[in-house]
Amino acid sequence: MKGKLLIIGFGPGSFEHITERAREAIQESDMIIGYKTYVELIEGLLTGQEIISTGMTEEVSRAQEAVKQAERGKKVAVISSGDAGVYGMAGLVYEVLIEKGWRKETGVEVEVIPGISAINSCASLLGAPVMHDACTISLSDHLTPWSLIEKRIEAAAQADFVIAFYNPKSGRRTRQIAEAQRILLQYRSPDTPVGLVKSAYRDRQSVVMTNLKEMLEHEIGMLTTVVIGNSSTFFYDDLMITPRGYQRKYTLNQTEQPLKPHQRLRKEAEPWALEQLEEAVPAKSEAAAAEAKAKASRMETAATATKASSREVAEQALQAILGESVGVSENSFIQQPMQSIFELAVSPGVANKKFTPKQMMTLAEVVGEDGNMEYTRDHQIKLQVPTANPDEVIEKLRAAQFLLSPIGDVLTLKACDFCDGEKKDAIPHAEELQERLGGIELPKELKIGFNGCGMACYGAVQEDIGIVYRKGAFDLFLGAKTVGRSAHSGQIVAEGIAPDQIVSVVEEIVQEYKEKGYPNERFYKFFKRAKRVRGFEYQDITPKLKIEEAACGD
Ligand code: SAH
Repeated sequence: MKGKLLIIGFGPGSFEHITERAREAIQESDMIIGYKTYVELIEGLLTGQEIISTGMTEEVSRAQEAVKQAERGKKVAVISSGDAGVYGMAGLVYEVLIEKGWRKETGVEVEVIPGISAINSCASLLGAPVMHDACTISLSDHLTPWSLIEKRIEAAAQADFVIAFYNPKSGRRTRQIAEAQRILLQYRSPDTPVGLVKSAYRDRQSVVMTNLKEMLEHEIGMLTTVVIGNSSTFFYDDLMITPRGYQRKYTLNQTEQPLKPHQRLRKEAEPWALEQLEEAVPAKSEAAAAEAKAKASRMETAATATKASSREVAEQALQAILGESVGVSENSFIQQPMQSIFELAVSPGVANKKFTPKQMMTLAEVVGEDGNMEYTRDHQIKLQVPTANPDEVIEKLRAAQFLLSPIGDVLTLKACDFCDGEKKDAIPHAEELQERLGGIELPKELKIGFNGCGMACYGAVQEDIGIVYRKGAFDLFLGAKTVGRSAHSGQIVAEGIAPDQIVSVVEEIVQEYKEKGYPNERFYKFFKRAKRVRGFEYQDITPKLKIEEAACGD
């Protein structure tokens, strides 16, 4: 009877996270070989198997023993924590077998049973830090030269991988994690989120959220996995989260996390998504693409023939794709600042619609050939500026006396130009509102219309919130539906609000909407649902005739 080797990864350490096959395999084996602590962890699953548990450093003898016993006809379970193929016993057992001339067809049967590796179990406790391209690096230089480990850390740091450090530190090995931090800091911000997970899913589990700068101030040991975020990783409510892609657009005051989940989940918000890649490279004809492919496969053959280094292969591959010589020199990888599209809107002022020639020239200069300017129906010009340095853009626009507003679900104030300032009494109130509320984030974009006289000729009553200055006081309109076949004006909810009251009244309304509005809920819908906002009552103005919904293009 031929024996069998069952190489089992039993996951992080709790029974719930052992796979069904791993359980079965443990139970069907005659003998268990593993590190003492691991055998103890799975003790509850044992049904009288013979046990060989040895100390940590005797991995080779464990593998040899396992092979010997299997050759004698035993079913031998070799256990590793996590996954046996990740810094575990699987490779080692194969090495021992190969040394003995083992062949798959004729030798003892081997089954490797996958388990949940620390990168996965630790990630789940931290939130969702892995998500994007990631790598694992073991900091143990026991069997790997430190110079190679250093190179890997550097490469991963440069390429913005999420990194899980295994074996970060032990009693004697304390220097490596500090070195790793030093290398990372050359490429990543000190604020980069870092998660430290010790003994995931075991009794002494601990989870610490920190950052690259401060990570060494916390306990890191043999049972810790250190997860380093990439440049987009962020903390939210004690969770460490890496978005699925890289932010490509951001706006004023929002450089941290510009796209809300519901915006992010749209396809157009992720132009780099794989399925759109083909359209994104329109310059290449199919013939050229086929040629590149043929070239790449020729190269592959050449590479195997001459045993080209992986770097040479990579360079040739790049060349085949780009169709030019890339000449990547040994040290030419420098971290490129990520160029994103900075979006914002500009106008000459709250109650000013007149652009000066100098302002127009500034716009042309700031936006440049590659940017984009769009005239909106809200007396603003929306800018899209490709830049890695938004502060510089902001500075230039401010110097040209522009009023800057963020883009997105924010509050915008539209005031009439008060007949060129003649009826100017209301202007300071409009400016104060802009000052206090302009640009704040809301469940959905919100427009306040502000008109300087009872004519209300700038259409304040057609905005989400309308304010009309008349006879030394303010009339207030709420909940217009600004577009659509069922469009309607706002409802008048108050007349004659005293000038010293108007700002705080509007502020309270906006605050209530901010707090209680559902994500994406327009103000008129919120008013209708809430029935009452800051004490102002909603009147049902739904037309008797049922208006059919019409989508764009209908
Ligand atoms: N085969 C294992 C890794 C063994 S190397 C796996 O796939 O997970 C040992 C290292 O793994 C430890 O130093 C630690 O960094 C990590 N590790 C293993 N189990 C862990 C756990 N339960 N919690 C945190 N880290 C763990």
